[in-house]
Amino acid sequence: MDEIKGKKLTKSTSGLRMIPTGEKYASPFALEEPMWMPDRETKKCVGCKQVFDFLNRKHHCRRCGKCYCNRCCSNSINLQRMYFVDPVRQCYECAVISKKEQEFYERGLKVLMAGTIQNIVEETHNNDRTDLGNYLCRLSADYRYIEFSSNESQTQDKESLPRNVLLSKVTGAQILTDSQSESLNTKVATGLELKYKDEYDSAVAHHIILHPVDQKASMPWLIAAHKALKMIFESKAQSRIQ
Ligand SMILES: [Zn+2]
Ligand SMILES: [Zn+2]
Repeated sequence: MDEIKGKKLTKSTSGLRMIPTGEKYASPFALEEPMWMPDRETKKCVGCKQVFDFLNRKHHCRRCGKCYCNRCCSNSINLQRMYFVDPVRQCYECAVISKKEQEFYERGLKVLMAGTIQNIVEETHNNDRTDLGNYLCRLSADYRYIEFSSNESQTQDKESLPRNVLLSKVTGAQILTDSQSESLNTKVATGLELKYKDEYDSAVAHHIILHPVDQKASMPWLIAAHKALKMIFESKAQSRIQ
């Protein structure tokens, strides 16, 4: 019951976690559990500064590891990025971030996996641009790649398809917007620019621009892709520190 392929149930001081048994099953969005702020170093709540005592007990936020009173740390929110099975206690600031991420898990991932048709333009190091054609772009089932497939898969041989983009090798990602509208709220995403290396980390960096064929319909895909990449960058930055 507590063994699912590639995952095993463990209990940390923060709660039950379903952690991957190997690199292959690890989520590219994963974050490490924080070190808990030591009890003796904290006399008062990080949030409201109320002194802790027998009645005003301290609680650790599972996301940032800081000490709070019950009131400042009462949100129980899912924290999938740390592999928690159940919602866990979080401070106000962390709860806001985790709620946004939960939205991404519930909606964004589905949008990314469903995919959208985009025109792919490759830019070479001497700034030549080549139109590679229109492809269905979607996130792979293991969340690690952006895959491209042709609409007319029967007529197209696999060789001519653009190579999959391994998300952990993306070094730069930018949402392109139309320059007409001034305000950020009314800006329309017109594409996604990606710079990335291949799986073998060869020196040559690739540079492609994805332009949605139907801009309006593809907006949610572009926004979700940008969010996914931000989360992956954050996970990578954290693993470099440790
Ligand atoms: Zn407090
Ligand atoms: Zn926190």
